Amino acid sequence: MLLRHTPKEITERKALTINPAKTCQPIGAMYAALGIHGCLPHSHGSQGCCAYHRSALTRHYKEPVSASTSSFTEGASVFGGQANMLQAINNIFTVYDPEVIAIHTTCLSETIGDDLPQIKKKAEAEGKIPAGKHVISASTPSYSGSHVTGFSNMVKAMAEMAEPVGKKNGKINVIPGWVEPADMEEIKRLTNMVGVKTILFPDTSGVLNGPLSGEYKMFPDGGTTVAELKSTGDSIGTLALGEWCSADAARLLDKQHKVPCRVLDMPFGLKATDRFIDALRTVAGVTVPDELSMERGQLVDMISDMHQYFYKKKVALAGDPDQLIAMTEFLVSIDMCPVHIVTGTPGKKFEKRIREITKDMGCEVNVKAKGDLFLLHQWIKNEPVDLLICNTYGKYIARDEDIPLVRWGFPILDRQGHQYFPTVGYKGGLRLLEKILGVLMDRKDRDDPEETFELVL
Ligand code: SF4
Repeated sequence: MLLRHTPKEITERKALTINPAKTCQPIGAMYAALGIHGCLPHSHGSQGCCAYHRSALTRHYKEPVSASTSSFTEGASVFGGQANMLQAINNIFTVYDPEVIAIHTTCLSETIGDDLPQIKKKAEAEGKIPAGKHVISASTPSYSGSHVTGFSNMVKAMAEMAEPVGKKNGKINVIPGWVEPADMEEIKRLTNMVGVKTILFPDTSGVLNGPLSGEYKMFPDGGTTVAELKSTGDSIGTLALGEWCSADAARLLDKQHKVPCRVLDMPFGLKATDRFIDALRTVAGVTVPDELSMERGQLVDMISDMHQYFYKKKVALAGDPDQLIAMTEFLVSIDMCPVHIVTGTPGKKFEKRIREITKDMGCEVNVKAKGDLFLLHQWIKNEPVDLLICNTYGKYIARDEDIPLVRWGFPILDRQGHQYFPTVGYKGGLRLLEKILGVLMDRKDRDDPEETFELVL
């Protein structure tokens, strides 16, 4: 009973979050920045923030995450961090020689009011940014939004690197949103299969799921190159996967460089993957290859073979808006009932979208943006569920309420595999179903009385 003090009775809370279903903005900015080849993320604030952000990513990805910090002490905290930042830019290019420094702010530097674009201009004027090197920045105050907002802000800063030459490159920009490195790899595999040339940004595949080669590389081989980011302004279109993570960057490219964009859901599950493939097919003017139809058919086959185990099972979910929207649609499409859904990221349109997806499901749905895991736990106490889908923090609720748990989302701190096995696309859908069925059937095997205990399920 680790959460023994969670009461069943729900009282209105306005200014108190308990067990947040989110983390802070700079973590998202740092993760996005790692998706640029040769990029060193830089935290403009105190060392403690940077240490926390790096360790959060390291614990999830089980990879070393390098990032530098402006190392604020009392002086910078009172008078501003410009001097620290200028010194840092000089030191970083001299010692580590990255292609790009991606700076994000923290609560402290935001509260002081440090102006990163102005500091960058000063660094340029003082010759601290070597020719051919880049400094980009995003404002990421953690007292608003969430890690998703920070991710989106840094992706927008990447879109600002676009330098069109006026000749179309024949490529489609694909902004994958906050998904795992393995998901980014899978999205590239899908676009290649359909025959579409893409610029995927950010791209953390090969950065945060790289091999152990015995050789240390400060900057791994993966990541979107600067040349590709510059070329995004010459692309023929942009597909942004996820309103919260990717849409702002896509709209910026549309507005500034007339690169038309479409905002789609992240391709989790059958229907969202269908829409993604259809968008690629339309853009490329091709038919869907047989190989891909085969993968789709396999997913449909598993859904129909195992439907009796999904039917009307109640599910509670917590995570990030873009992931939850696609996951909820997937669960509804296989006749499961997602009844409690919480994201820590603000945005009333999340609640509206979830209500649209679940309106014909035939049962009441609790949904809250800017909610927390405490509320989710209370909902579960009032209406128990058969399954919980959540990041690692869900394990406290799962243990207390004795509910099967599928770990999905960020962060996953106590299991392996999320970096290597995608959950996007049709193959990813198969993996999601395998994970869901695995915990449901383990539960059934454990709970069934002897007379109904079956060898074959
Ligand atoms: S002070 Fe702000 S930026 Fe730093 S770790 Fe805390 S919430 Fe994140």
